[in-house]
Amino acid sequence: MTILIKNGRVVSATGTTAADVLIDGERIAALISPGDTSLGANLEAEADRVIDASGKYVIPGGVDAHTHMELPFGGTFASDTFETGTRAAAWGGTTTILDFAVQRQGERVQDGLAAWHAKAAGNCHIDYGFHQIIGGVDDESLKAMDELVDEGITSFKLFMAYPGVFYSDDGQILRAMQSAARNGSMIMMHAENGTAIDVLVAQALAEGKTDPKYHSLTRPWETEAEATNRAIMLARLTGAPLYIVHMSAKQAVSVLQSAKDDAWNVFGETCPQYLYLSLEDQLAQPGFEGAKWVCSTPLRSKAEEHQAELWRYLRTNDLSIVSTDHCPFCFKEQKELGLGDFSKIPNGIGSVEHRMDLIYQGVVDRQISLERWVEITSTTPARMFGLYPQKGVIAPGSDADIVIYNPAGRTEIGFHKTHHMNMDHSAWEGFEIDGHVDTVIARGLVVVEDDQYHGVKGRGKYLKRGLSQYLI
Ligand SMILES: [Zn+2]
Ligand SMILES: [Zn+2]
Repeated sequence: MTILIKNGRVVSATGTTAADVLIDGERIAALISPGDTSLGANLEAEADRVIDASGKYVIPGGVDAHTHMELPFGGTFASDTFETGTRAAAWGGTTTILDFAVQRQGERVQDGLAAWHAKAAGNCHIDYGFHQIIGGVDDESLKAMDELVDEGITSFKLFMAYPGVFYSDDGQILRAMQSAARNGSMIMMHAENGTAIDVLVAQALAEGKTDPKYHSLTRPWETEAEATNRAIMLARLTGAPLYIVHMSAKQAVSVLQSAKDDAWNVFGETCPQYLYLSLEDQLAQPGFEGAKWVCSTPLRSKAEEHQAELWRYLRTNDLSIVSTDHCPFCFKEQKELGLGDFSKIPNGIGSVEHRMDLIYQGVVDRQISLERWVEITSTTPARMFGLYPQKGVIAPGSDADIVIYNPAGRTEIGFHKTHHMNMDHSAWEGFEIDGHVDTVIARGLVVVEDDQYHGVKGRGKYLKRGLSQYLI
């Protein structure tokens, strides 16, 4: 099966050019400049399919480096399965996800990983890889880290938050970082001072402050900036590569910026919710409504002016990636677990379907360039997590993961509009995008076209990853 994408503008992290793209089977065979007949004068007649991309952008499929399908949290499970979540991702132009396998304290790392393989295998619509959460750092789990690197899991997430659940103390973090420094893997850090936060939460509840907004007010920016600084210092001490996930506080990114200026191997991501949503506009809505937007790190106050700074840090590459931290929970029966006690609201927002659109809006709004859009949503995540050039670029030999994006189109996000995630509401209700995902091709298969879905459950393959390609 060959597909010729004609007349589009191919966007990469480094530029935009007019070119046709020839797909042969699951791979990209060639990029052809206008008028170039070296591959044949009549490719259009020879191709099995021709897609006209006139007036549209042709971009590498999105790589979402941070999702949580079926994650157990707070007595329930994230509501998207690998099947529903990867299907929604494909609808929105994301063709690769990296999800987090979980090891809890007292569990073998290999068993946690095997459970994740079992959930994903045969269910995914798009290709997928794993990071490994290490919830219990000890001699055995440290040894397992070396084994996992050989199996293509080259990044390990630790938590400075959630004492008693996923939390690691500084000594445990230090030991895991020493292992990472030795085997070349990346430490991913949830950087919030969890023991301080737990005291603030208990004090708020004791004062009868139970509404969802207190989720944010008990996780102030200082707790993120402090933990970020501590993680960076421990990484410096050990020489481990460090990637801070879901950054929302400008002060935390400022700490990261200083370390990057000193050329350490430290990186940061943010998520669409921190670029667009806030304490005032979403989380602090009357009654229990705000529970829809309880996630950690939390949505922060508009008055503190984080959003403009996060966009700026994306422009300056102090923030390298936009991932979703997709962790959906339904309002009924899931978010409602926290009625009368915000600390029992499952933490997470569903966004895997909307990331490409939401960040494209940043191009329209002149926050970032067209090329930077592709870089922070596809190319950099692929390079950061050892998948490039198989993923993250339109180049001969790369997987044929391609999105044809229409800048003249329009996307209305909402539960009764564009919404394929397994949730009973949209955290993005009413958002409108000045662009549209027209066609999505995942490893050579057209999965979305003319607002119809043609993907296949089980076609997504497990991706064995190499080490990060950014390390110096
Ligand atoms: Zn986290
Ligand atoms: Zn997460």
